[in-house]
Amino acid sequence: MNEDCKFCKIVQGKSEAEIVYQDDAATAFWDIHPKAPVHILIVPNRHIASVNDMQPDDETLMGHLIWVAKEVARQQNTQKGYRLMVNTGPASGQVVFHLHIHLLGRRP
Ligand code: 5GP
Ligand code: ZN
Repeated sequence: MNEDCKFCKIVQGKSEAEIVYQDDAATAFWDIHPKAPVHILIVPNRHIASVNDMQPDDETLMGHLIWVAKEVARQQNTQKGYRLMVNTGPASGQVVFHLHIHLLGRRP
């Protein structure tokens, strides 16, 4: 838990978000400013600032996040086509430094 991190607060239920999936390792919730009909963020429950801050032990966790993205895409009925996007570093446009996968989809 990073006290100053808004996504840590969402994971812990200390800040409001529309959570659509949660397990021991990951949480998925709607982006506050959706840029597509489906725009959900998938985050690790443990604070990792960005892909650049991944440790070797985090490899399995990253695979799990993609698994969760797939499950959420199906839950949201956008499994026929969606994009997974991970901004990394300020020059990419990353503004929240708690690693997150954007799931961008379009309901059929
Ligand atoms: P980034 O540019 O860091 O990849 O994306 C951050 C995303 O988080 C943006 O799409 C933004 O709309 C979303 N976001 C920022 N603050 C909050 C928040 O407090 N709650 C939720 N649900 N989404 C947020
Ligand atoms: Zn965090």
